Amino acid sequence: MKPRKTAEVKIMRPRAEVSIAPHIREILKILGENPNRDGLRETPERVDKALRFLTSGYDADPRKIVNGALFEVKYDEMVVVRDIEFFSMCEHHMLPFYGKMHVAYLPHSKVIGLSKIPRLVDAFARRLQIQERLTQEVAQTIQEIIEPAGVGVICEARHFCMMMRGVEKQHSGAMTSAMLGAFRDRKDTRDEFLALVTRS
Ligand SMILES: [Zn+2]
Repeated sequence: MKPRKTAEVKIMRPRAEVSIAPHIREILKILGENPNRDGLRETPERVDKALRFLTSGYDADPRKIVNGALFEVKYDEMVVVRDIEFFSMCEHHMLPFYGKMHVAYLPHSKVIGLSKIPRLVDAFARRLQIQERLTQEVAQTIQEIIEPAGVGVICEARHFCMMMRGVEKQHSGAMTSAMLGAFRDRKDTRDEFLALVTRS
């Protein structure tokens, strides 16, 4: 698959001037609730705030996140950041999915400040997502910004839409991966990555 350019990721800024709260109030009524009772009176505003935070990734610009943290180095060994916690929302049910992401790259001439990688993960996780695309977007963004010899991303997640409804499987997780460049072409690179992230 041809890597997509980050620029093509459509940025849909949530419209700050439009309140989500009245719509939540309507949903509460449709669900048979009384939105005026004590416990629910402030709920629409709280949901509004929560949804804006959970989708704040639409406002994030990956290049700005990385700004100033890209360094030229002579280092060509694998860089791995493992067990990056993330929380996202599935675009099919708007229910959370969450888990861990392991990100690795093989530097060519540039490395990125390590703390920037979890921030990149958040930028894409805080949108309506599917796990497959989240995994790809993290990999492709790192490929474009750092221009390494390769990128590997493995994502393990549990989906509330599977756990609470539908198949109601509480213990099943989903795994996705994206391997670019050397991680796709070279088995030894891929194996080294897998060994580093599965080691306890
Ligand atoms: Zn879902």
